[in-house]
Amino acid sequence: MKFIILTLFPEAFESYLNVSLLKRALAKKFIKIELKNLRDFGVGAHKVVDLRPYGGGAGMVLRVDIIDRALRAIKAKQKGKKSKVILLTPQGKVFNQKLAKQLSKVDTLILVCGRYEGFDERIRDLVDYEISIGDYVLTGGEIPALAVLDTVARLVPGVVGKAESLVSESFSESAGRRILEYPQYTRPENYKGKRVPKVLLTGNHAKINEWRQKEALKRTKKRRPDLLRGLR
Ligand code: SAM
Repeated sequence: MKFIILTLFPEAFESYLNVSLLKRALAKKFIKIELKNLRDFGVGAHKVVDLRPYGGGAGMVLRVDIIDRALRAIKAKQKGKKSKVILLTPQGKVFNQKLAKQLSKVDTLILVCGRYEGFDERIRDLVDYEISIGDYVLTGGEIPALAVLDTVARLVPGVVGKAESLVSESFSESAGRRILEYPQYTRPENYKGKRVPKVLLTGNHAKINEWRQKEALKRTKKRRPDLLRGLR
């Protein structure tokens, strides 16, 4: 699967993509990532990509003609591949595991990062999805793009070494519902009087699974009842 990121700050991605699972996934070619500098599509000697908003107001707005040109150039190179364009915006649908799963089926995801005051409204017509990573405002779309890329990349076969890691984890679908993961423990068995639940030491996998399912449901009811009501 390929991710193409359109950003004014390609250098912001380098260190994160150069560690751990994503580094390995890139080296093994399970995923490909292209960083495109939006400035390259700017106009004039200063490669301008934004202007003041009509009607006045604070800050600068990314221009529709610039984003349109960049997306056309990027799409022209996709040649028959199934691609989707995502605009990162606090006004979009709040990202979740279900949407990540849906996006992991696409050949190429094109992620458009905003900056400054945001986008000319007409840019919304150029994209397939508008995605927010939560109800707060960051300075730019780079962290949201990484959040989407990282979450979707984990679902690409091979990226997470043990596929079963994805099965029982929080928000993954199990028996038609999405719940949180069960509690996990490792050594020491007793830490300052807090003991690992006895069932986990028995080696009885049927009993351990039963305990885990019960605990997963219990903590979902307590922490995220909205998941059980199918609200996300
Ligand atoms: N003025 C915009 C508004 O009120 O909706 C916010 C602009 S924000 C300072 C600059 C850029 O950061 C946005 O265009 C978007 O790409 C990105 N961004 C900020 N918060 C985000 C969020 N919660 N989810 C996704 N993208 C976000």
